[in-house]
Amino acid sequence: METDVIVGLEVHCQLDTKSKLFCGCSTDYRSDGPNTHVCPICLGLPGAMPVLNKRSIEYAMRVAKALNCTVLHESEFSRKNYFYPDLDKAYQITQYDKPLAEGGYLEIEGDEGGEKRIRITRIHVEEDPGRLVHMGNAERGKYSLVDYNRAGIPLIEIVSEPDMRSPKEARKFLNKLRATLEYLSVFDSDKEGSLRVDANISIKGSERVEVKNITSYKGVEKALTFEITRQKNVLRRGQKVDRETRHFLEARGVTQSARSKELEHDYRYFPEPDLRPLHVQSWVEGIVLPELPDARRERFMAQYGCSLNHARTLTGELKLANFFEKVVVSDPKGLSMLAATWIADTLIGELNFRDMELDPVDPESFTGLVRLLKAGTITDKSGVEVLRVMLDQRLKHETPETPAGIVARLNLAKTKGDTGAITTAIEEAINENQKALEDYRAGKAGALNFLVGQVMKKTRGRADPGELNRMLAEVLQKREA
Ligand SMILES: [Zn+2]
Repeated sequence: METDVIVGLEVHCQLDTKSKLFCGCSTDYRSDGPNTHVCPICLGLPGAMPVLNKRSIEYAMRVAKALNCTVLHESEFSRKNYFYPDLDKAYQITQYDKPLAEGGYLEIEGDEGGEKRIRITRIHVEEDPGRLVHMGNAERGKYSLVDYNRAGIPLIEIVSEPDMRSPKEARKFLNKLRATLEYLSVFDSDKEGSLRVDANISIKGSERVEVKNITSYKGVEKALTFEITRQKNVLRRGQKVDRETRHFLEARGVTQSARSKELEHDYRYFPEPDLRPLHVQSWVEGIVLPELPDARRERFMAQYGCSLNHARTLTGELKLANFFEKVVVSDPKGLSMLAATWIADTLIGELNFRDMELDPVDPESFTGLVRLLKAGTITDKSGVEVLRVMLDQRLKHETPETPAGIVARLNLAKTKGDTGAITTAIEEAINENQKALEDYRAGKAGALNFLVGQVMKKTRGRADPGELNRMLAEVLQKREA
């Protein structure tokens, strides 16, 4: 366990509003060309005045409340001045010394087991700059194009205290944060640029390094793991870790020192003169939060009898939690335990293997599969086979068959009662594996399991394991005699 590791995160999340933070331009630019969602305000033309998007503040307050933060009596927007081509106004409107909210926490499953509180320092609201598109690569390309469709997109920055002790805890924090934002209906993780992370990381007693602009969940764990190894190697050589900013190069999985001059900014923050201070404390009191991941996890355990681990996995993503409840809705008592296992343990693994999203899988078909397993029509092994066919058909956009249809077409129904088929398979397995029979007689552990495996293979996984074990034992005893 890496107990000498100290990690704090700054997470930028896009708030899923219809329009931008200070103008009426639509945030849904995905199917449109560059610079089509712009106006004098988000282009920063002289004389254009920002008008604050009320919904974005409401969304930010929902997050503040869900993360147990205190919304400040007065918060304020400031101008952060710097010159860069993606920043049309030459300043970004953000919050500086008076953020919207401070001092909260988020609970994660800690490395030590049990719940662990990660403290939240502050949450502030800000606008996103535009986006540069480099022709060729950033260093050697002849020119760059700029797209201001993103300029003015509302973001919140969530800053944590340095309470995480490993890359794994950082990932858990991000997963929990993403789930919470999705439950609050303020965030769409599928959108481009919806989440970006800066990580502060140090080895106890050494200087802190900031790794900038990590753009994926997996990237955070990778960047941190790389950085820990790098810093420990520096210390092992008897050198000092420099306090610096580094960039994460996702494709190579390494961090690289940023040229320090480039980052020695003096942002000359000052209060934004075109926007009044915010007094929203009484408003936040009226905000009613939906059921959040922790509450839903507890409910899944109480209502459906899920284990802690299954409940945690199922409620860790809004889509997955909704999927589970749809699968079991027709018969919660009868289906919950089996459905929880098959979704949390099997389905997720099969989806990951195919790099596939949950969306194309319909809960009704999955219920059909769970019912076949519940009724004992198919073995677990055949269940996996049916599921794989179901997923592959959806992945290839083929007409999906019902689970029962797949079982019939592939002849996967259990051989239960069909003792003839099993007996034949057992006789064959033993005859072909005399060595295993001798081992079994010599009392060698594993010989029986080997024979069971052989029979399963011959029956293509359709033999009921209980029945097979019983019959195999009988045959072996007979041969013994
Ligand atoms: Zn605009």
